[in-house]
Amino acid sequence: DKWPAKGAVVFNGVTASYDASTDPVLKDINLSITPGEKVAICSRTGSGKSSLVSTFLRMLELQSGSIYVDDIDISTTTRQAVRARFNSPPQDPFFLQGTVRENLGPLRVATDERLIQALQSVRLWDFCESRGGLDEDMNEGTLSHGQRQLFCLVRAVINPSNVLIMDEVGGSVDADTDALIHEVLQKEFEACTVIAVVHKLHTTLDFDRFVVLDKGRIVEEGPPREL
Ligand code: ATP
Ligand code: MG
Repeated sequence: DKWPAKGAVVFNGVTASYDASTDPVLKDINLSITPGEKVAICSRTGSGKSSLVSTFLRMLELQSGSIYVDDIDISTTTRQAVRARFNSPPQDPFFLQGTVRENLGPLRVATDERLIQALQSVRLWDFCESRGGLDEDMNEGTLSHGQRQLFCLVRAVINPSNVLIMDEVGGSVDADTDALIHEVLQKEFEACTVIAVVHKLHTTLDFDRFVVLDKGRIVEEGPPREL
């Protein structure tokens, strides 16, 4: 099957905690996101942004409520399915021993042309090509931190999923890399639903909607505006 075929995401009264015995860190979250909508989560440290992303990836305990993606309640699927079906670039870039190609995905679903185009979208292809191309050893130690983050984003560009959720976009990269990540989010994921934690308010202007959390609750939500 092709789930998620559309990429509609609905948080329905979601209250969640890290452990069944601890206090909830998300409280009564209601969010209805339409297919292709770009939502920025932007708020103070400790307000629950990462917890929201983790809940979506089924890493927290739901105390009440549900999360639907299209017509499926994700709690009825496996964690494995959630990770396989949604795009979720990690905050800490990770690499495998092996070639650039192997690091772009084990499934070999994409053509060389597509892999190169995806690397070009984050301006890493010239660099990869100069080192020998797709079948050269990854040797990620020679990439900067920002380049490593961009490389992980390429995996998402290649993976055909209608839902992308990501924490701290450009969290610890320089301003140019941050801008490039946002450009890729808009261009390469145009048709996808994107939920992204952003750390700079001005970047919410690229999004259709922003959401502000405070102590695990949504306290503000609306179209982006100059702040
Ligand atoms: P930041 O901007 O610093 O990344 P955040 O908005 O992502 O903050 P969260 O990490 O979601 O905030 O934290 C929300 C609440 O959940 C905080 O009170 C925090 O102490 C708690 N929390 C975060 N991670 C854990 C964990 N692994 N176990 C228990 N509680 C946690
Ligand atoms: Mg966080």
